[in-house]
Amino acid sequence: MRSFIYNQLPGRVVFGTGALDHLPREIELLGAKHALVLSTPGQKARAQGLADRLGSRCAGVFPHAVMHVPIETAREARTQASRLGADCAVAFGGGSTIGLAKAIAMESWLPILAIPTTYSGSEMTAIHGITEAGIKRTGRDQGVLPRTVIYDPALTVGLPVAVTVTSACNAIAHAVEALYAQDCNPISSLMAEEGIHALAHGLPRVVKAPSDLDARSDCLYGAWLCGAVLGAVGMALHHKLCHVLGGTWNLPHAETHTVILPHAMAYNYAAARAAMRAAERALDVPQAAQGIYDLMKGLGAPLALRDIGMPETGLDRAAELATQQPYFNPRPVERAGIRALLDAAFHGRRPQ
Ligand code: NAD
Repeated sequence: MRSFIYNQLPGRVVFGTGALDHLPREIELLGAKHALVLSTPGQKARAQGLADRLGSRCAGVFPHAVMHVPIETAREARTQASRLGADCAVAFGGGSTIGLAKAIAMESWLPILAIPTTYSGSEMTAIHGITEAGIKRTGRDQGVLPRTVIYDPALTVGLPVAVTVTSACNAIAHAVEALYAQDCNPISSLMAEEGIHALAHGLPRVVKAPSDLDARSDCLYGAWLCGAVLGAVGMALHHKLCHVLGGTWNLPHAETHTVILPHAMAYNYAAARAAMRAAERALDVPQAAQGIYDLMKGLGAPLALRDIGMPETGLDRAAELATQQPYFNPRPVERAGIRALLDAAFHGRRPQ
């Protein structure tokens, strides 16, 4: 076996249907007495319900999280946390809400307790991001890694099917890139393969019966593993492309991951054979890039950049931005190949 480094991220995970009931105990274990509960406006009623259950352990609710953490929202949330004397941030929601908790923690070092309700995986990473004047700046800091994560599949039952599918594909993308990461290792690869398998096999059951708790449980377990590998190893071409497209054309986050993934896999296919074999085992298909495309098509996911707001006139610029600076990728990143990849993704062609 080759030598490797595995960074075990600290953090406690409480998993299972009904796990939310342990929230008061988990806040107490963090040594906190006044939790600020965060959510998006859409999840405000559920966040308020949590606050009511916490009673005097809750300092207040801040239901204003939005995608990509605008600096204005981060400032408002930080002020609110300090005005209310919060000693812990409870992030109830997806990556947008957890991102806001991280923005608070960056300045105050409040411990974060995350309760994910999507599959995007931010709760498992030390990656933070704040958007100022239209530019999202990201970084890593162990201080923003949630200290406790409560995964309760019952909370994901109401996640609309379309969001479920794209959010899960966002998670699978973390695991696929983890399989061929520069710093991949046997442990992260085990988790990545298992994560893809759990999501790929849980998703069709969720789409058929969105309140099937067993299927929801498999998906959330898969999302946990996929998030954990995003936090543990570096990403490559796929994430770079999604960052460029999302940041420059404001394309929706999870949908962009869904459309790009099969094409990024096709681009890297011959250069990352062991990783692709692992993905093929996990997906139970003969060809990983086509397998992921077919899975998403069967689940009704968006398949073409043109359908999620990308202008065709932007493809040249996107290829330029994605190839401007060097970064690790199993296959060298060259402009003509990336332009062809973007063209296939724009039209939503099945990878060859
Ligand atoms: P999100 O948090 O923006 O949520 C999407 C929508 O779904 C919101 O309107 C929300 O209110 C709603 N929603 C969430 N859970 C729900 C539920 N169970 N039922 C009904 N509605 C629900 O979506 P996301 O994809 O989880 O997060 C995207 C953001 O997270 C992006 O800004 C992305 O950059 C970031 N992200 C960060 C990391 C990281 O490691 N830092 C990882 C992944 C994503």
